[in-house]
Amino acid sequence: HPDLDERVLDFTSAKGQEDGSQKSYAKDCLSRYESALYRKESPYKPSSYLITKLRQYETLHKRCGPYTESYNRTIRKLEPAHLTHDHKHDHHHETSDDKECKYLVRIPFDGLGNRILSLASAFLYALLTDRVLLVYDNEGDTADLFCEPIPETTWLLPQDFPIRNRLENLNQESPECYGNMLQHSRNSSFVYLHLIYTYDDYDKLFFCDQDQIFLQNVSWVIMKSQFYIAPSLFLIKSFEQELATLFPEKETVFHFLGRYLFYPSNPVWELITRYYRSYLANSDEKIGIQVRTFDPRFLTAAFNFTTSTLEAVPDTILACSFDNNVLPKINMNGSQESGRSKSVIVTSLTSKYYEKIRDMYWEHSTVNGDVVAVFQPSSEGGQKTGNKKHDRKAWAEMYLLSLTDKLITSPWSTFGYVAQGLAGLRPWILHMPKDEVVPNPPCTRAMSMEPCFQKPPLNGCKMRTEVDTGALVPYIGHCEDASQGLKLV
Ligand code: GDP
Repeated sequence: HPDLDERVLDFTSAKGQEDGSQKSYAKDCLSRYESALYRKESPYKPSSYLITKLRQYETLHKRCGPYTESYNRTIRKLEPAHLTHDHKHDHHHETSDDKECKYLVRIPFDGLGNRILSLASAFLYALLTDRVLLVYDNEGDTADLFCEPIPETTWLLPQDFPIRNRLENLNQESPECYGNMLQHSRNSSFVYLHLIYTYDDYDKLFFCDQDQIFLQNVSWVIMKSQFYIAPSLFLIKSFEQELATLFPEKETVFHFLGRYLFYPSNPVWELITRYYRSYLANSDEKIGIQVRTFDPRFLTAAFNFTTSTLEAVPDTILACSFDNNVLPKINMNGSQESGRSKSVIVTSLTSKYYEKIRDMYWEHSTVNGDVVAVFQPSSEGGQKTGNKKHDRKAWAEMYLLSLTDKLITSPWSTFGYVAQGLAGLRPWILHMPKDEVVPNPPCTRAMSMEPCFQKPPLNGCKMRTEVDTGALVPYIGHCEDASQGLKLV
């Protein structure tokens, strides 16, 4: 049963051909060929325009990718003598089939969930602006975790990229920073977009039509981002029509782009398949529960939320499960005939939440006789982004969650957003308990499977008075778990 990834989003040319290069491409990325065995077919269908656009992108990437003639020519623009206002001069000698290549270089920031979401939405921006996406990462994380998305080329930024040693240090003070350039009318050989939580009103002008016109003529755009910026791209007028044609169903943006871009590398695929076959494969229903708790100081700063204690988290999960028929209630008087089997995969940095739920289904039978097995792949104790083994597990767990039939997730967590988007599921989002009391209701069903852009620009373009960006169009609303956030619905 070839699933959607295989049937339409995959590289048809790479399939069924028996020559050696294609075979080695298959061996290099087993998940591309085997994921259909583990994933149910998506109930959504990509538009034919999206498929065409992806094929065009693949052609563009092959023509402009690292060390191609076009690439070698375009990196010369990064030499100090070339300024962005020189571009007209550069165009001079080009013929129409020798069209200039434009690039989007992406610098990662924050944990793996944030990285995956910001990379997918950077790719969407590249698609919209005919740029080639090149991925920078110093520790080699990308290559360790993901297959190359486009055959016969690479999305990894070359080691000898001219300004590679500057990338790590680009920040709001850099003369090339877009917000900074606007304030001081500077010019430079590339533009740096600062799209992380510290971005200011000038940096946010990136999301405006005027500014997109300016950026069109810049060969090298470098973006540091931690956010899923897709919702705000939908609010840029000049992208509106194109996006509507690409995604007639707005909530499928990350679902399709995520499944297209992020195939687990072979070592991660081993973690996923071994775990799946051991714990998930043989149950009648698979449930994913993602428990992410944050430092209260972070929550107060970011979301204006305080949690005094997290003791009530397991009870909150259970209340949410019972209310929504995700898990059966337990039976206080004796055993029941055996019913269906449910596998519950819990992911968390700590094992304490999982243990309570597991014990409950061990010590008691269930009212409907369902047999509930509860397990957790890892409990890493803390976030160790950059540590290979840790990151592989994190990615494997997001992927395993995405293979379940029903999902309960934690608020504010991009880790959970990735799982729900890849799965194609609208999760139940927990309400985190305050003061050891289970909230009522304990959770909310998500409006859509899309990730939330947690900190979007709130001001209108050109620093007009505040507008409610969540009320401008019917398909963009505020997030269930972040009232200032934006998500596609
Ligand atoms: P967010 O902070 O929840 O938005 O998610 P991120 O993925 O951006 O950052 C959290 C990081 O902490 C993850 O990438 C992991 O490194 C680690 N982490 C958090 N929750 C889990 C979990 O349930 N399992 C594992 N293996 N790692 C986790």
